[in-house]
Amino acid sequence: MSNLSPQTIERGLAKDDLIVICGAGGFIAGSLARYFWDLGYHHIRAIDRKPLPEWYQRVPGVECLSMDLSEKDNAIAAVRGATEVYNLAADMGGMGFIERFRIDCLRSILINTHLIEAAWRAGAQRYFYSSSACAYNTLLQQDANVTALKESDAYPAMAERGYGWEKLISEMFCQEYWAERGFETHIARFHNIYGPHGTWFGGREKAPAAMCRKVLEAKDSGDYQIEIWGDGSQTRSFCYIADCTLGIDAITHCPELIATPINLGSHELISINDLVSMVEEIGGVKLERHYDPDAPKGVAGRNSDNTFIKQVLGWEPSTPLKVGMAKTYEWIAQQYADRKAGKRVVTD
Ligand code: NAD
Repeated sequence: MSNLSPQTIERGLAKDDLIVICGAGGFIAGSLARYFWDLGYHHIRAIDRKPLPEWYQRVPGVECLSMDLSEKDNAIAAVRGATEVYNLAADMGGMGFIERFRIDCLRSILINTHLIEAAWRAGAQRYFYSSSACAYNTLLQQDANVTALKESDAYPAMAERGYGWEKLISEMFCQEYWAERGFETHIARFHNIYGPHGTWFGGREKAPAAMCRKVLEAKDSGDYQIEIWGDGSQTRSFCYIADCTLGIDAITHCPELIATPINLGSHELISINDLVSMVEEIGGVKLERHYDPDAPKGVAGRNSDNTFIKQVLGWEPSTPLKVGMAKTYEWIAQQYADRKAGKRVVTD
């Protein structure tokens, strides 16, 4: 439907301009560092709070620094000389994490607050902020047969407690830095990003990775059962990582999208029960399902309305879930085997 590709995006960026990517020890920012490196941008500084050996991926040639960006002095050092700054650093995880650790989620406000000020002072040209569908009004998400969320549905505000409010306020920072100081900012609201190189066990993993792991565990142990959080009727859309990195690039370099939050998600809606069936099919098993009504399950339904992104970029994330899940399953299967063999793998 579209001819958007990394080659068609006009960035106004020289190959030796410094790109700073924050949160790069994690899933999406790690993939973004790989994405820009592969495009020939080789002046990249990647930063994360985690010690370097614990990063999910480290791109050879990229400067990798372990620093806590919620500290002002570190934020200043991180962006020195930067042309572009991508802030994807946040304390986050799946529903199990964000419903339980609201204070940690709220404290991510410190990262963006220091980083955006430091980036502006350092004379950076562009700043990207990773927001979330959790910024949307939760009252609009009480039905599994959802109407997809459009950008204006964030206000009147009733965001996800903790995590969602932090996103909303950080978005506002980005908008005001543009309005008051003319600092070019870009904001994407991600909807459930998944794919290889994301966390898959330990408590921060999200539904797609958790399902793959549970199916692999059942096959490995011969105990053909699976636990599902809630009654499995809750619906979501899931966006493949390659669509996400391309989308971040396109959004950050689109002049019509300055200080304008935009959905970055797939509109392929699926229930958690159907997601389990899909992973069972990929894994070639059928499992006995057990439901835990008391487990964290989040809102009843959530989907991404892509009218706006299609209008401005002539593009939307379109990797079919089945295709992305097959790749994710294959990667987690390898991780599972590596962990069993005592090798280092991705965790939280
Ligand atoms: P992730 O947890 O894999 O990566 C985030 C990284 O930020 C982690 O490696 C973490 O160590 C780092 N970090 C946390 N606090 C830090 C600090 N004080 N200083 C430096 N680094 C710090 O998560 P992700 O899935 O890659 O998410 C990236 C961004 O996208 C986050 O802002 C997240 O809220 C947002 N987001 C993600 C999704 C999704 O589905 N994955 C959905 C909506 C929004």
